[in-house]
Amino acid sequence: MTIRQLPDTLINQIAAGEVIERPASVVKELVENALDAGARRIDIDLEEGGVRLIRIRDDGKGIEPDQLPLAVSRHATSKIASLDDLEGVATLGFRGEALPSIASVSRFALTSRRDGSDRAATLEIDGGRVGEVMPKSHPQGTTVEVRDLFFNVPARRKFLKAERTELGHIEEWLRQLALARPDVELRVSHNGKPSRRWKGEGDLLSEVRLHEALGEEFARNALRVEHAGAGLRLHGWIAQPAYNRASADQQYLYVNGRAVRDRSIAHAIKQAYADVLFHGRQPAYVLFLELDPRRVDVNVHPAKHEVRFRDARLIHDFVYRTLQDALAGTRAGAVAGVAG
Ligand code: ADP
Ligand code: MG
Repeated sequence: MTIRQLPDTLINQIAAGEVIERPASVVKELVENALDAGARRIDIDLEEGGVRLIRIRDDGKGIEPDQLPLAVSRHATSKIASLDDLEGVATLGFRGEALPSIASVSRFALTSRRDGSDRAATLEIDGGRVGEVMPKSHPQGTTVEVRDLFFNVPARRKFLKAERTELGHIEEWLRQLALARPDVELRVSHNGKPSRRWKGEGDLLSEVRLHEALGEEFARNALRVEHAGAGLRLHGWIAQPAYNRASADQQYLYVNGRAVRDRSIAHAIKQAYADVLFHGRQPAYVLFLELDPRRVDVNVHPAKHEVRFRDARLIHDFVYRTLQDALAGTRAGAVAGVAG
């Protein structure tokens, strides 16, 4: 038996296997990078459901030309420098893995101009083969172009679905993002045609965006939630019991701005609705929990879909009580609904 050190490209392709499942995962990672860079406007151009092309351009703070090779190197990040930083991390990214992973399974180009700099440059990577940094004109901010996703990983490419399905996954992720970041303008085009525009609004999720994202009926039945205590803040919108769903398809939970799935919080929400929903029906909600980043571990899963709370019980009860109070006034209506 011979033990070998694997080449970098293969290491990156293995890492890509964990976080890059389909075009929507690429969009998610790149848009998160744009948000971490402070973007106010993000343009997303797609071709063939993102399989042929994903191009994401932002007006964030950008990257210096000499930093481009680092940006696409594994475990290189500007977001943390120590264990202490990791424990209080407030950015969406911190693993330094997305760009090298994506670049190892696509034809990739990163082009950027740093704020206050007059030089822009580009770096191309073809299936993991890194080119030279070349000057190129670009306004302040960053453009990442990802073509032919998985062209060199046939096993993955085979699992990609029809254009509509892949586009649907991207749109669902963008909806999730649009709900969390009403302050950022998002423009989406598909196959050369503008397909969606989310205009930048205020910091708080308004009824307008709620309506755009989840439909008129949700917006009409939504109750505003806003409650703080014990260093926790829960805010957002929950649907009155009269508006409920057959599946859990309109349940959006964010912890410090990151969309997550959490069984304990999901349970608390379910409990709060227990008396006012028909058996087997699902509540609809868009809820944001904010707390000191040190009270939550986001380094649980490579794709960061899950978090771990230091005081899960306290948070469970906080969410339960907040929603129970918010729903208290709706009980009579729900009972009338049962009778009618
Ligand atoms: P992470 O987000 O975990 O740091 P990435 O591989 O996604 O890792 O990105 C590596 C680095 O490249 C980031 O830390 C950041 O410094 C830089 N970067 C990536 N995308 C952008 C962007 N859109 N704007 C500015 N800098 C970026
Ligand atoms: Mg990132």
